[in-house]
Amino acid sequence: MKPRLISGVQPTGRLHLGNYLGALKNFVDLQNSEKYECFFFIADLHALTENPTPSDLKKNVFDLALDSLAVGLDPHKSVMFLQSQIPSHEKLFWILNTLTSPGEAERMTQFKDKSKTQAKSVNLGLLNYPILMAADVLLYDAEFVPVGEDQLQHLEITRTLARKFNKKFGNIFVEPEALLTNTPRVMSLDEPNKKMSKSRPKGCLFLDDDAEIIKSKIKKAVTDSGKEIVYDPKRKPALANLISVYSALTTWSTKTVEARFKKMSYREFKDRLAELIIRHFEPIQKNKKELAKNLDSVKRVLASGAKTANEIANQKLLEIKKKIGFLVY
Ligand code: AMP
Repeated sequence: MKPRLISGVQPTGRLHLGNYLGALKNFVDLQNSEKYECFFFIADLHALTENPTPSDLKKNVFDLALDSLAVGLDPHKSVMFLQSQIPSHEKLFWILNTLTSPGEAERMTQFKDKSKTQAKSVNLGLLNYPILMAADVLLYDAEFVPVGEDQLQHLEITRTLARKFNKKFGNIFVEPEALLTNTPRVMSLDEPNKKMSKSRPKGCLFLDDDAEIIKSKIKKAVTDSGKEIVYDPKRKPALANLISVYSALTTWSTKTVEARFKKMSYREFKDRLAELIIRHFEPIQKNKKELAKNLDSVKRVLASGAKTANEIANQKLLEIKKKIGFLVY
C-alpha cells in the first residue's frame, strides 16, 4: 500500500504565488509521482475564522476548487473534498481540544500574528485552528502533510496530540511528517522579510493576475544593494527570493539560475522572471475559465471525494470513540 498524504487550503480569497509554490504545485507533483495515496481538501471550516459572508464563502470555495483543478489536481488520481462535508473532522476536533492546554494553542505564531492583523475579529476559531488541523490529518492516518513552512508549528501540535492520545488511550494515530518544497516560504515582493500573503496585496502575486500586473509588480519588487545576480539569502534576501521563484518555476537549481543571469542587470533578470511567471500562469488561467463553464462537474468531483473521505473518517472516528470509552453500538 502506498503511504497516504493529506493537505488542505483555506478558501479565503485569491491564491497567490506563495500558496502555489509552497503548496499547490507540490500537491500536483506529489500526485503525479504516483508514490502516494493523495487526499486534498478545501478547508472551509478553517475559513470561518475570517468571518466571510455567505456569498463570499461560496464564491471562494468554487474558486479554490477551480484553481485546484486548473493547476492539475486530478480527481481520478487524488481524493478531493470539502472539509465541511465530513462531520468527523468537527467531532475529532472536540476530542482533541480536551487534550490541549490553552498555553499550547496560545503560543502559536500564526495565532499571535492574526490576533494583531485581524484585531477587530479575533475569535476562538483562530486559537483552535491547529487543533482542527490535527483532526483533519489524524482522521486519515496520513503519514505526510505537504505544506508551506508557516504550517510546521501546527503540524508539531498534530504530532504532539497524536502522541498524547496514543499514550492515554492506546496506539491509534500515526505521527505525520511535513513534506516541504524548495520554496517553503515565498517572501513578499515589497517587504522581503515577511512572507507573501494576501494581507499584503502589493507584494503579492496572485494566480489570476494578468500579464501587465505581473510585469508591474515584478518591476516594482524590492531588490538589494549591489548589481550582481547572486543567490545569497543572508546578504541579498530580496534577490534570493526572486531567484528561488525562478528556480521553482523552471526546476533549475538556484546555482544554475545565478550562472544563467550572471551578466545581466537586476532589471533584465526581473523582465525574464516576469515573462516566466506570465508563461506559467497563462495555461492555468485558461484552464480555470474553461472549468468555470461547468460548475456542476466541480460539485460532482467534491461529492465523490466526500463519499470516499466520509467512509474512511467515519470508520476511524468509530475506532477512536471505542478507545475513549464511549458506548458504541
Ligand atoms: P492557507 O491559505 O493558509 O490555507 O495556506 C495554503 C497553503 O499555502 C499552506 O500549505 C501554506 O503553508 C502555504 N503558503 C501560504 N503562504 C505561503 C508562502 N508565502 N510561501 C510558501 N507557502 C505558503
